[in-house]
Amino acid sequence: MTPLAFPKPPSRKSEKRAARQVRRTQIALIRRKVGQRDRRCRVCGEGFGYGELTPEMHELTSRARLRGRPPEEIFNMTNCVMLHRRCHREVTERRVSLAPVDPAQGANGSLEVLRARAQQSIGKMAQVKF
Ligand SMILES: [Zn+2]
Repeated sequence: MTPLAFPKPPSRKSEKRAARQVRRTQIALIRRKVGQRDRRCRVCGEGFGYGELTPEMHELTSRARLRGRPPEEIFNMTNCVMLHRRCHREVTERRVSLAPVDPAQGANGSLEVLRARAQQSIGKMAQVKF
């Protein structure tokens, strides 16, 4: 059989499927690495467990804000932290704000944790030593 002079390009659908696979792989890799770095919740400083204490990965700059960027720009060690499910909800519902003390270090350095109401820093507890 002679090869086609103009082979059919990969379909948009199969390209999208491949891109989702790359993204999922990156998320899984970073979740594992962030889980090894953050042995305690970066909001409250307590250890992880089950139910409300289940570890969840949070992106400091949200994936919605970084929409369209390559997965490694969203899911990396400087942008991702591990939080309890309950603490993650506090952050996503904006009752708690999380910001890196040093933007260059991002999540690899200390985070400032602020309660929305009192705007009182509880950052000391959430700092991790490296
Ligand atoms: Zn927590």
